[in-house]
Amino acid sequence: MFALQGDVREHLAALRRLGASTLAVRRPAELEQCDAIVLPGGESTTMHKLAVTFELFEPLRERIAGGMPAFGTCAGMILLADRITDGTTDQRTLGGLDVTVRRNAFGRQVDSFEGDLDMAGLDAPVHAVFIRAPWVEQVGEAVEVLATVPTGEAAGRIVAVRQGALMATSFHPEVGHDDRVHGLFVDHVRTM
Ligand code: GLN
Repeated sequence: MFALQGDVREHLAALRRLGASTLAVRRPAELEQCDAIVLPGGESTTMHKLAVTFELFEPLRERIAGGMPAFGTCAGMILLADRITDGTTDQRTLGGLDVTVRRNAFGRQVDSFEGDLDMAGLDAPVHAVFIRAPWVEQVGEAVEVLATVPTGEAAGRIVAVRQGALMATSFHPEVGHDDRVHGLFVDHVRTM
């Protein structure tokens, strides 16, 4: 669990409810002990800066490029994207997902919203909480779209994707007690 910034506690709680063994990662030595990583919601520019300061950015980028499973929510999705629009000028991402992500795509904080949406792999809709969320503007051939916004102005926008061992959502499944989205990731890691 990337633990330099963001809603780390909520993710750790979800992962533990699923029976996963967890470790808060702030240093490269902690990363070395992990088989997979979750990147939380928060602020992607701050996460980038802190990861560089804590010398975690390069090792993490290399692990993900080397096939380590990763799941990112919101800011975590931005970190996993190969390309971002509306990033700050010096903002870099870890990359891995062949997608272009637009930061703050749904508007400002006041435009944060919630809604139910269908997600591939799950029988019943997920209650999705969007907080200054990104959306995925463009996906490469290897990327599977798991969910889109069902209604409203943003209808059809891509908000959940998977590519091999990497998974990302624009929304925050760690908020609330529905652990099924984390379950998709944990199940995938367990099969590896
Ligand atoms: N807008 C934030 C960013 O750019 C993401 C918001 C979130 O994670 N809830 O990093």
